[in-house]
Amino acid sequence: MSDPVYISEIFSSIQGEGMLVGRRQIFVRLMECNLDCRYCDTDFVKSDICRLETKPGSGIFHNLPQPLTLHNISALLHDWLMQLPAAHHSVSITGGEPLLYADALAEWFPEIRRILPIHLETNGTMPFALKQVKEYVDYISMDMKLPSTAVCTEQLWDLHALFLRECHGRNVSVKVVIGEDTPDGEIMQVCDVISAVDASLPLFLQPLSLANGAVGISAAHIFHLQELASSRLPDVRVIPQMHKLLGAL
Ligand code: SF4
Repeated sequence: MSDPVYISEIFSSIQGEGMLVGRRQIFVRLMECNLDCRYCDTDFVKSDICRLETKPGSGIFHNLPQPLTLHNISALLHDWLMQLPAAHHSVSITGGEPLLYADALAEWFPEIRRILPIHLETNGTMPFALKQVKEYVDYISMDMKLPSTAVCTEQLWDLHALFLRECHGRNVSVKVVIGEDTPDGEIMQVCDVISAVDASLPLFLQPLSLANGAVGISAAHIFHLQELASSRLPDVRVIPQMHKLLGAL
């Protein structure tokens, strides 16, 4: 029996980032993270309460005691699919860092995937954990953490490279958050890591969102970084956090 999974919230919304942008998803946000990014807007501290949307898309939550079981989750998914048939494209397993729960997810994913496709949102630093679950995952959205925006305590390039190699053959895309201070060298390094695995993988440049709602990078610098990345990779796209523009969760 694997360790319990702690979930901070479950809700229905529009995916605002990356390759599935615009898709309606059921989001299952897991608690805890192995990183501490400067721009993090997620409360991922472990608690005994999971917030569950009372009705999909309502934005109204009630509290459930934790931990939830796989049976609880699949009953909920079936219920929401009955309420809104065909509205949802997939289940987004997000965090925090979901791969911290890889042992349990390896048991959960086959059942969840019988209900909806699985989209894994990850910070791309746990390649060995990915190995445990990747056969059950339909889409992998991998973040690469840039020193200029995420300000992680350590340089993560080697881990990101290992992780992306582990994703090879899966439906994977890479996202980086870019800001006004993002230098050319960081974008070149991202391109190096991607090219070493598969240059055709999509790269999403996501302009930094500041706490006050403003965008933390000028249009001129976005264009410059997009031109730079596009000189190395064929599929580079710029997408801001769309759910924030919609006022969605
Ligand atoms: S990886 Fe994600 S959840 Fe973890 S600290 Fe960074 S932004 Fe927050």
